[in-house]
Amino acid sequence: MSQYKAPRGTHDIYGQLALALEELDKISRSVFRKHNFKEIKTPMFEDVALFTRSIGEATDIVEKEMYVFEDRKGRKLALRPEGTASLVRAYIEHRLDMEEPVGKFFYCGDMFRYERPQAGRYREFLQMGAEYFGNPNPNADVEIILLAKEILSKLNINDVVIHINSLGCANCRPIFRQKLIDYFSSTQDLCEDCKRRLEKNPLRLLDCKIDSCKFQNAPAMKDCLCDDCKNHFSIVQALLQSVGCEYMVDDKLVRGLDYYTRTVFEVRSSAVGSQDAICAGGRYDNLVKELGGQQIPSVGFALGSERVLMAAQNTGFFENLPKKYLVFIAVADEDLFNEAFKFANNLMANKDNIKQKLNLPEQIIVEGPFLNKSLKSQFKLADKLEAKKTVLFGKTEFEKNKILIKDMAEKTQTEFEYND
Ligand code: ATP
Ligand code: MG
Repeated sequence: MSQYKAPRGTHDIYGQLALALEELDKISRSVFRKHNFKEIKTPMFEDVALFTRSIGEATDIVEKEMYVFEDRKGRKLALRPEGTASLVRAYIEHRLDMEEPVGKFFYCGDMFRYERPQAGRYREFLQMGAEYFGNPNPNADVEIILLAKEILSKLNINDVVIHINSLGCANCRPIFRQKLIDYFSSTQDLCEDCKRRLEKNPLRLLDCKIDSCKFQNAPAMKDCLCDDCKNHFSIVQALLQSVGCEYMVDDKLVRGLDYYTRTVFEVRSSAVGSQDAICAGGRYDNLVKELGGQQIPSVGFALGSERVLMAAQNTGFFENLPKKYLVFIAVADEDLFNEAFKFANNLMANKDNIKQKLNLPEQIIVEGPFLNKSLKSQFKLADKLEAKKTVLFGKTEFEKNKILIKDMAEKTQTEFEYND
């Protein structure tokens, strides 16, 4: 037993989960690309101020979840807790608003938050997300929501509830904020966090898991929205209805980051347990400007890959992961090892042609040959690996320029011309 363990809140990904993540990655990328989103890879750490400025001082992420450190030159850095701030930073830094006719980008990668670890909540986790810069209209919000839904439905995750809300804009949010302060100031027994939030960031109270039962009659943003925000929100809903996308308006949805304006949404799955948010996002019309760019209204979302795969546990996604067609190369006589080795390499180089020629649905993978292994143990290994075929190099056959191919399921053996 090793004396070392993965750090608390982190996990190693291997076996079926690694395959499933690879498939989720492939599916998401193809959906993003289909909608004309392009990938941006950003560093895993950034100037800590980028996150405090964008996510907000009085948010859980900035107050207690960030991994902050100093490098050898005393620069204050943070492991990224989310992807939007970095993408906005890159978008501004490289003047992508001038370069790209449409500002659609996606990212995939590890995020870091110092949270209390539990099922579906890690200190290092994977997110895939998309950001749509420069479209102020409600159709962009809906495109983002539908993009998330499309990825989930490709994993057969359809049993979800899409919660939406509007957080208003700089004109109407202050009115809501004041109403919240008035309401909560007269509410008894707020938890310590809520007491603190009430001064700094009263919207956050609506997100509190401890005090949520006390908020039934709290003021709702929808009653404070200005005409423009009201109009925006009703077009979002009309568009969702027009494509038959079900949703529920959720007054209590405020999200854990400060940069959101107008539409916010969260997709929840009951299959995941208490950490039921599998993806989330919203509009952020002022963030690009706040971080030093132009006034570029934008909208985006991120999905938590581990949680999405938890939601896919019973949808058949895992059972239907792409199957492999394993070809095992066996040698009956070590004199033929070099020949068999060459053959294995050839087979790997031509595997796509062969897959096409034989009309195989699965990808061909090749294992072997092995040195210093009896023929019996080679066949045992081929069985364990669930090989479909074993190509056998035997002395008598090879002298006649032949090799044997054994079908492992049917236990039949056929001779082939080696040069074929
Ligand atoms: P939660 O309310 O569960 O803390 P959040 O609002 O902090 O979620 P976001 O910042 O919106 O989450 O991140 C988007 C998605 O990333 C979440 O919906 C979730 O699926 C995933 N996610 C967030 N934090 C974690 C974590 N610590 N471990 C695993 N996945 C996470
Ligand atoms: Mg959180």
